[in-house]
Amino acid sequence: RPQPLKKPGLLRNQAYLDGAFVDADGGGTVAVDNPATGETLGTVPRMGAAETERAIAAAAAALPAWRARTAKDRAAILRRWFTLIMENQEDLAAIMTAEQGKPLVESRGEIAYAASFIEWFSEEAKRIYGDVIPAHGPDKRIVVIKQPIGVCAAITPWNFPAAMITRKAGPALAAGCTMVLKPASQTPFSALALCVLAEEAGIPKGVLSCVTGSAQAIGGAMTASPVVRKLSFTGSTEIGRELLAQCAPTVKKTSMELGGNAPFIVFDDADLDLAVKGAIASKYRNAGQTCVCANRILVQDGVYDAFAERLARAVQAMAVGDGFEAGTVIGPLIDAKAVAKVEEHVSDALEKGARIVTGGRRHARGGSFYEPTVLADTTPQMRIFREETFGPVAPLFRFRTEEEAVALANDTEFGLASYFYGRDIGRVWRVAEALDYGMVGINEGIISTEVAPFGGVKESGLGREGSHYGIDDYLEIKYLCMGGI
Ligand code: ADP
Repeated sequence: RPQPLKKPGLLRNQAYLDGAFVDADGGGTVAVDNPATGETLGTVPRMGAAETERAIAAAAAALPAWRARTAKDRAAILRRWFTLIMENQEDLAAIMTAEQGKPLVESRGEIAYAASFIEWFSEEAKRIYGDVIPAHGPDKRIVVIKQPIGVCAAITPWNFPAAMITRKAGPALAAGCTMVLKPASQTPFSALALCVLAEEAGIPKGVLSCVTGSAQAIGGAMTASPVVRKLSFTGSTEIGRELLAQCAPTVKKTSMELGGNAPFIVFDDADLDLAVKGAIASKYRNAGQTCVCANRILVQDGVYDAFAERLARAVQAMAVGDGFEAGTVIGPLIDAKAVAKVEEHVSDALEKGARIVTGGRRHARGGSFYEPTVLADTTPQMRIFREETFGPVAPLFRFRTEEEAVALANDTEFGLASYFYGRDIGRVWRVAEALDYGMVGINEGIISTEVAPFGGVKESGLGREGSHYGIDDYLEIKYLCMGGI
């Protein structure tokens, strides 16, 4: 059961706009539900274009003073924000589990992960170096400086209610940009709690605002505004494509972290226990609701049956429940629509000849709980091969050769995360280079960290988040040519 918050002020039912917590202009609200119980936790304002435009104006007004501060100054404020997030880890985790459903241990982990981006970029703020280039004439000098892009907008999803925000706001604010954020309507309380702490850390008014409500109206105002110079979006490829089109008339810079269809390849010479452990971590984290979750498990002929058996045994041991119950490993899916999609993928696979090894239906708890599932004999003709399932279902595809595995893995318009297990050093290099993906886990199922560049190729997106590359997404390069020397 959830404990009462140590700091009740973290839970806000108003949006954060220009340094104040406020209601929507018309007073409308959106309800936020607990996906484990269906009960309504509270409401947030249903805002639209007018409030978004005010937040953008506030971000523009705050920009000159924020970018003029020294990097060290901004770094100190971000560092305080990091410290406050970690000091309030328990409360933030409880808010997250209540609105998102993930097990409390995963929520605690996400809060630490979210905070790590603020810590990392507080450090990177001081290392935005320029360049001096040997010039093309004796009386000339060439200098390259990096400057903040300006006012940025961010739209974030419900599957990582805190980390997807800090991964954008951290580098933006460190670089000297200001930001207007629209969190997912399913998980706005985590976003607003982060704003409470941002204010406490000393982030000046207008530098970070959080507008809740209509995705279309808020996204429309963000993309239409000529003042907003950059949009960073994490969500589905479908919506990402729409937002890219909406950004075209004002030629905005964009970062797009979109869908994935991650292959997880197990070769004959893999350490099978390690591969099972990696598959469990990669596939079932957040009940399978991450864009880097293994979506297609490709297993070589010689170890197929042994892998299926060991994976099924591990899956059967996973406890399904409310994220607040001790021992829960798999929480509910976010909503009824998510369960319906998982059901469609499983029934399509079964109709086309797949076999249930374990699970394969809604969980006896009802609501949006689904049994952790392993399917065998799945084939590329099934929807589960083509589309992101975003649920706790592991389909096992059989392959014979390395070439076949790589061809299957790359047979998708997506290119976010990929994984493979094997020990032959030549093959490790060959396969790592041949996979058309932005990220490759080699004998490793969990690859997300603030120190490495996260991002995809093909229709999985544009740009990189985290690492020393991540701040480039919020910087413009300016070339100064000095003549007459
Ligand atoms: P998911 O399937 O993970 O919910 P979406 O792409 O639908 O992914 O949503 C991700 C984020 O994009 C959420 O904050 C959502 O509110 C927002 N969103 C959805 N539709 C639109 C839209 N038409 N314009 C702007 N933002 C949108």
